[in-house]
Amino acid sequence: MRLQNKVALVTGAGAGIGEATARRFAEEGAVVIITDINIQAAEAVADQINANGGKAQARLQDVTDEALWEHVVQDIVSSHGSLDVLVNNAGIALIGSVEDGTLDDWRTTQAVNGESVFLGTRAAIAVMKERGGSIINISSIEGMVGEPGVAAYNYSKGGVRIFTKSAALHCAKEGYPIRINSVHPGFILTAMVEQGIGSMPEAVQLEMSERLEREIPLRTMGEPLDIANGCLFLACEESKYMTGSELVIDGGYTCR
Ligand code: NAP
Repeated sequence: MRLQNKVALVTGAGAGIGEATARRFAEEGAVVIITDINIQAAEAVADQINANGGKAQARLQDVTDEALWEHVVQDIVSSHGSLDVLVNNAGIALIGSVEDGTLDDWRTTQAVNGESVFLGTRAAIAVMKERGGSIINISSIEGMVGEPGVAAYNYSKGGVRIFTKSAALHCAKEGYPIRINSVHPGFILTAMVEQGIGSMPEAVQLEMSERLEREIPLRTMGEPLDIANGCLFLACEESKYMTGSELVIDGGYTCR
């Protein structure tokens, strides 16, 4: 029970990596606030956690909404006494290279993947600075290495990586007992990846699957639970000497 008596907020937790992280946190004793733009999905995850003896609550949240961030965080503190862990997980991956991507897609990607991490981190620091806490920002290997077909995504995830270090240093400088780290998943089998690959032309899909098999040293895509376990480590006291760090969970993809 590594998160006993802790209150955790996981965004985009109605599916994929966020869902697995919320479930893992609940198994370790946390009260988990599951937010998502898809409230039905968030409610279904919360209901299952509660039915299995955990403690979860679902809430509608579009992570790009600045005012809503303040409400969500303040409500959690009023209802549960504290916010101890925030996982900035919600994200989207729109396909487009530097030549064929649109400005609309670019701006949407930066708002959902980038600005939301700033908004969430800022809102969480405001309520964590006295009691302490752990903020986990889900970046990607795409924040470390380039991929020609996802220019806007690369830019957003690179931003999350370096923003995490800036915010971590700020908290350390101010003497706040808050640790902030980034997680860099490789290719994890979730709806995002299935839809991303599915939206490519068939020949490109085939090339992509062959490439993944060839280039992932562990020869397989990861599961959402692989990332959830990394988040659990960063959320709990076992990682108490880590801040501003990058936790890469990618089957070895970025090793070479
Ligand atoms: P996913 O399966 O698509 O789940 C993401 C969840 O976030 C969905 O429930 C989605 O709702 C929700 N969401 C989308 N926009 C939102 C918004 N504006 N506000 C609140 N919730 C929103 O994605 P995933 O693969 O689990 O990815 C989770 C995170 O991991 C993302 O930040 C992603 O970039 C990162 N990541 C994923 C991989 C991978 O291989 N899967 C690799 C590296 C990094 P809808 O379904 O209704 O849109």
